Amino acid sequence: MAEDTLFDKILRKEIPADVVHEDDEVFAFRDINPQAPTHVLVIPKAKYESFADLAEQDPDAVGRYMRGIAQVARNLGLEQNGYRVVFNTGPDAQQTVQYIHAHIIAGRQLGWPPG
Ligand code: 5GP
Repeated sequence: MAEDTLFDKILRKEIPADVVHEDDEVFAFRDINPQAPTHVLVIPKAKYESFADLAEQDPDAVGRYMRGIAQVARNLGLEQNGYRVVFNTGPDAQQTVQYIHAHIIAGRQLGWPPG
């Protein structure tokens, strides 16, 4: 059974977060340690542990999740200047919370390649 993560608790509102969007599919809140002026985490309400798990186990949910992420970015007014969507997956990418989450990072010129 999957562990109960920090993001499960944030989704259940047991731990406070600065929520920027919620609908039937996705839940979005500001990262506590922002790496850019805008840094928002978007999770699907249906839990998967990682990007790989979601893509393999529920391809239909991928589309709904991507649409939710795009909608959050649009609502935040990020479309004109742009933004980056990051899925840290596994230890080399430093995924620290085992609940899939998209980082939306924006509000400054972002470097490439990422660190
Ligand atoms: P990961 O490293 O797993 O890709 O991303 C986890 C993210 O969760 C990190 O960017 C980290 O700053 C953020 N985070 C960790 N604890 C909290 C918390 O209690 N509240 C919020 N809003 N974000 C958190």
